[in-house]
Amino acid sequence: MKLPPRLKLASLPTPLRPLARFSAEFGGPRIWIKHDELTGTEISGNKVRKLEFTLAQALAEGCDTIITCGGVQSNHCRATAVLGARLGLQVHLILRGERPATPDGNLLMNYLAGASIDFVPERDYHRHPEIAADLQQAYSRNGNRAFFIPIGASDEIGLWGYIEACAELKRDFAEHAMTPDCIVTATGSGGTQSGLVVGNALHQLGSQVLAFAVCDDEAWFAEKFQTDVRRWQLRYADLLPEDLNVDSLSPRTLDSYIGPGYGRAGAEVFETIALMARMEGLFLDPVYTGKAFHGMLQEMQHGCLQDADNVLFVHTGGLYGLFPQKENFILAAG
Ligand SMILES: *Cc1c(COP(=O)(O)O)cnc(C)c1O
Repeated sequence: MKLPPRLKLASLPTPLRPLARFSAEFGGPRIWIKHDELTGTEISGNKVRKLEFTLAQALAEGCDTIITCGGVQSNHCRATAVLGARLGLQVHLILRGERPATPDGNLLMNYLAGASIDFVPERDYHRHPEIAADLQQAYSRNGNRAFFIPIGASDEIGLWGYIEACAELKRDFAEHAMTPDCIVTATGSGGTQSGLVVGNALHQLGSQVLAFAVCDDEAWFAEKFQTDVRRWQLRYADLLPEDLNVDSLSPRTLDSYIGPGYGRAGAEVFETIALMARMEGLFLDPVYTGKAFHGMLQEMQHGCLQDADNVLFVHTGGLYGLFPQKENFILAAG
């Protein structure tokens, strides 16, 4: 299949390995990890797979500036800020929330990477598309050309990131002589999940894709999927196989593990993070992967994953978001 413009930014392919000690101790389906936190140290995580396509598009349009948005600890904004520095693009971030007295985690990295940052209070954040459009005009008056990337780079361009990750997974599965019954991911802005659903069909992986929501509900992700896939089909009609049929696809989202809210997790999630760190040296984050992994373990015990033999968990990154939440871990003294 022909692909749209793409930059080589991530370290690929990422490793895939079974969680041997965890499975030996707890039984149940075999858990495999796709290590997408290893796409790069500073650009760690899932966003760079999408940004390979998004930033290629920005360069193709002759842009010298990138505007994007997200939470104060957004992994997407951090990956964009770092990649901007690498590509010689100015990055301007619109972050939801107050400016903290001391920047930590992803935010610290944004500053170090030289991004311009505007903080927009929670109550005004719904206006971020207009704020971005105003910024774009201001850059244009100064003779710059600014490209806007929506939250999480989840749109019809970024969708390619996890469609193409499925080509990589196809080779992984052949190498390990294993087809997981289920591919599990955290879902936030929907692009990873949607890409996996489309890629799973397009590359005929033969798995199911199950996503654990960290913010919005199941209906929101269903709607987001339809919108992005429709736009993708229209925009890339020339590239797609003629017999492609994605109309029957729909995402499968579990929204019962969101807990207290976006970016906030219950004590059980922090316990799971600590357990996996000491048992496997696997570091999950409290915003995305820790919640999804915890949900997956629950569903393996008494839910829709009970009958699976092999389950693949996509580690989508998030490590730097662990540090700003350090007070939620109960550490043994001494
Ligand atoms: C953004 C993010 C996700 C969710 O991916 P979406 O494509 O936005 O749904 C999952 N895990 C981590 C660590 C992320 O940063």
